[in-house]
Order: sequence, then C-alpha cells, then structure tokens
Amino acid sequence: MDFAWSEEQLQFRRAVIDFARKELNSSLPGRDREAQFPRENWIKCARFGIHGLPFPEAYGGGNSDILTTMLSMEGLGYGCSDNGLIFAINAQMWSVQMPLLRFAREEVRQKYLPALIRGEIIGAHGMSEPDSGSDAYSLRTRARKVEGGYVLSGTKTFVSNGPVADVAVVFATVDPKRGMWGVSAFIVEMGTPGFSVSRHIDKMGLQSSPMGELIFEDCFIPEENRLGPEGAGANIFKDSMEWERACILGSYVGAMERQLERAVAYARDRRQFGQPIGGFQSVANRIVDMKVRLETARLLLYRVAWLKSQGKSTPMDAAIAKLYLSEAFLQSGMDAMRTYGGWGYTTEFGVERDLRDALGGIFYSGTSDIQRNIIARFLGL
Ligand SMILES: Cc1cc2nc3c(=O)[nH]c(=O)nc-3n(C[C@H](O)[C@H](O)[C@H](O)COP(=O)(O)OP(=O)(O)OC[C@H]3O[C@@H](n4cnc5c(N)ncnc54)[C@H](O)[C@@H]3O)c2cc1C
Repeated sequence: MDFAWSEEQLQFRRAVIDFARKELNSSLPGRDREAQFPRENWIKCARFGIHGLPFPEAYGGGNSDILTTMLSMEGLGYGCSDNGLIFAINAQMWSVQMPLLRFAREEVRQKYLPALIRGEIIGAHGMSEPDSGSDAYSLRTRARKVEGGYVLSGTKTFVSNGPVADVAVVFATVDPKRGMWGVSAFIVEMGTPGFSVSRHIDKMGLQSSPMGELIFEDCFIPEENRLGPEGAGANIFKDSMEWERACILGSYVGAMERQLERAVAYARDRRQFGQPIGGFQSVANRIVDMKVRLETARLLLYRVAWLKSQGKSTPMDAAIAKLYLSEAFLQSGMDAMRTYGGWGYTTEFGVERDLRDALGGIFYSGTSDIQRNIIARFLGL
C-alpha cells in the first residue's frame, strides 16, 4: 500500500478545500435551523466535479481512482462544515450512481448518469421500509410481473434525498417466499403514475439532507428500468452497500481534522484558573484521543480505498471502515463538546451540530451492530 500522495493529488485536495470554504459554508446555521436543502450548493459541487469524481469520463465523470476520490472527499469534509450536504451527495454517489454504472443497461446509464453527475437531477435510494430496517431482505414492496415490465406497490421510508429526488433506485420483491433471491432493483422516475413522496421526515441532524417516504401504488415500471437480471436485487444492494460503507464517511476524516484543529485552538485560547485549559491533562488527553482517532480513521479509509482501487471485494474492510469512522466521529464530537464546555452546547461554534450530524452515521448504511455482525461472520463467529 502506497499512501504517498503526488503533488497533483495534494493540489487537487487544496483546490477542493478552497472551493468548499469559499462556496459552501455561508448561512449554514440558518439552513440547519430551518432544515433547508441547499440546491445551489448541490449544483456548485456538481459543477466543481464532486459528484462525478470516480465515474468514467464517458458519463461526465472525473475518472479519478478511489484513493484520489477519498482524498478529495476528505478535503470536502475539511473545508465544508455542512455535513448534511456532503452526506446527501455521498448518498447519491454510492447508492444511486454506482449501481447505475455497475448494473444498468447502457441506454439507462446514458439517460440518468450524466444528468446526476452534472447536478441537473437528484437521486435517492429506497431499501428501508416501515417494517424492514436491518432485516432489509424482509421487505414487503412488491414487484408484480406484467407484460413489458413490473407493477410496484409498497412504501420506502428513511429515504435520503427523497423529498427532492427526480429518480430513485428502489428494491422490491417479485416473490416474498424467495427471500433475498426474490429481490430486484429498479430505477423509477418521479412523475411516473403511482409514484409519490408522501412526507418529509424530520430528524435531529444532517438537516440540509432531506429525508422522506416513497409510496408506490400500482406503479408501472418498464422492464428496461430493472437493474441487472430479475432476482439480482440482493447482490446489487450488497455491492452498493460495500461501496457506500467504504466511501461514504471519507469526508468525516476531513471533518474530524477541522474539529480537532478548532478544539486545539480553543483549548490554547480559553483560560481558566489563570492558564489555558489545554494545560490541564484531562482536557489535553481528550484532544489527544481525537488526534489518535483521526489518524486511525484516515488509515482505515485509505486501506479500504486502496483495496477497492485494486478491484478487490472488501465487505469486511468496508464494514470495519464504516463502523470505526462513524463511531470515531461521534466520540470526537463528544470530546470536542467537552473541550468547549457550556459553549459547545450552545449553537455558537457548530460543535453541537457536528455531534448531531455524527449520530446519523451510526445508523445509515447499516447500524454499528450490523457492521459488527458482518465482521463477526468473517471471523467465523
Ligand atoms: C440519516 C439516515 C439516513 C438514511 N438514509 C437511508 C436511505 O437513503 N435509504 C434507505 O433505504 N434507508 C436509509 N436509512 C435507514 C437505515 O438504513 C436504517 O435506519 C438502518 O438500516 C436500521 O434500520 P431501523 O432504523 O429500522 O432499525 P432496526 O433494524 O429496527 O434496529 C433497531 C435496533 O436493533 C438493532 N438490531 C437489529 N437487528 C439486529 C441484529 N441482527 N443484530 C444486532 N442488533 C440488531 C439495531 O442495530 C438497532 O440498534 C437512513 C437512516 C438514517 C438514520
């Protein structure tokens, strides 16, 4: 594994940081309070090339390797404090664009991928349902085979980007008795008769990433909108989750670095008992733990990205990265909060926002319990 970055890679990371600082942070506290989706910033990121980073040039992507992509996403998380926007972009990249690239027919790819990468349309991913979360393959949304396609009926919940989406990758079963082998994946366009977004789901963090519920009522989907063969949905979901778990938290590494630098500056500046609070060992040790977590997270991210760049299947490493990075950002959010004392609890410094945002990470793409289950399975337990 070689993590010695070239000058070109580092230059691009610096360009991402400059862009993010200049373009993405204004009015964030208000946006967070009002839970507003920053469409303008979404488009700016797409124009800068974020959405398309690792995707082929043929679809308008940047053709970056995965390690360079992760270095760039790290830069985005460092420069941009809007974790919700970054999460929303990542949700589209890894679980909408990636399955389209890997499993859709060429004409379907051509129809949606360039528009998603250019930021002209927004994509969502619908797997979770009111009665199936961690037990994803017990889904109830039905895909009834009819001439020329399928008729979808059911409800998808917790769908990130749902309220603003133009297209969704949706999973449904052709036969619940077949368990995971009955699941198929479809791409569905907003405006298709029988497809609607029923409600906006309020949540505690990642406020600029809207979440909703998708409803399918006898919604006809043409056969060409199925991704992969019938019954391949579980494998498509697993493949997307492996990409998502490996890559979705790359920007958290940058966010943790930003958080650490600010905590150090605060601990040097804030004085109590006649000295900077950083001089108290309890305060310093918490910040040291933040640094150790940051560097461990960074190595795990680069390792899984390197494995991916070698074309290797890496479900266990992806689960380890997802588990560690999400829990590390949460724990460091707590340590940052303690460093700032009561000021951390107010909305003055954005410390509480990072902590609220971090909590989402231990649930999406499979909870920490589920990542541990995956790792345990690979250990033969
Ligand atoms: C911010 C956010 C964004 C999301 N975005 C999307 C999206 O875009 N698309 C989408 O489809 N879904 C999305 N989700 C849903 C997410 O994937 C689910 O929340 C997650 O899979 C857990 O399902 P659940 O919430 O129904 O919890 P449950 O499955 O009901 O779990 C409840 C608790 O039981 C534990 N548990 C359950 N089963 C086991 C087990 N076998 N072993 C050990 N513990 C277990 C869980 O870890 C958890 O602590 C999102 C969720 C969040 C929070």
